[in-house]
Amino acid sequence: MQLHFSSGSPDSHACESRREGNWIVFTCPQCEEFERRINFETGEQHTTPSANPYILHQGSFMPAGFEADHLGAN
Ligand SMILES: [Zn+2]
Repeated sequence: MQLHFSSGSPDSHACESRREGNWIVFTCPQCEEFERRINFETGEQHTTPSANPYILHQGSFMPAGFEADHLGAN
């Protein structure tokens, strides 16, 4: 299972991801108000309505284990 979204823009913000139940929650270190949720069972997505629509965001989530290795590798 792997989730990824990308704008394809080099200026886009890289998001941090975490899991909450069936939801993967992406937050942006540069935009406090930004939050994007993706339900990995249904594919449903929600993005914070107040987030700036002109700022592009990208992020990816992979199952625990890989993520831990990735973080550990700095
Ligand atoms: Zn951002």
